[in-house]
Amino acid sequence: MPSTTTTGPSSSTTAEQESLAKQLSDALAKRTKLTAALKKAGDSVERTKQEIAGIDEKLSTLLECTVCTLKYDKMSRVPLILTCGHTGCARCVARLVSMQSGGNKTGIFKLRCFHCRQPTNETTGQFDIELFSINKALLCAIPDKE
Ligand SMILES: [Zn+2]
Ligand SMILES: [Zn+2]
Repeated sequence: MPSTTTTGPSSSTTAEQESLAKQLSDALAKRTKLTAALKKAGDSVERTKQEIAGIDEKLSTLLECTVCTLKYDKMSRVPLILTCGHTGCARCVARLVSMQSGGNKTGIFKLRCFHCRQPTNETTGQFDIELFSINKALLCAIPDKE
């Protein structure tokens, strides 16, 4: 004999009906729980995607020459680090060298940084990449394919 009472319209509650009701209610409860978990997971995926997009944006900014705002590359726009610690692409450094030499190709002078104006690497008016250090951290971060 069934011992629990139900609020259903039937007064002839059988054990079978009770079992069915229990299965239904268990299934529904589980479904509600899983639906909530799925939504939470979805929100988390969305948040993660946004975070990745933010990082990509930051990376892209970090991989730009701060002088000409063009992307560093492994060819003509190699990131060169001056002795003051500031970095610019090889083209901007070359332009800086030629501007500051005042047309003198042989006289040695200390290049002034485009950012902090400190005297940095010694150079002649002829730009020589060997006189500058490559910013390896940035070079390694440059994607092989543009
Ligand atoms: Zn540049
Ligand atoms: Zn500097």
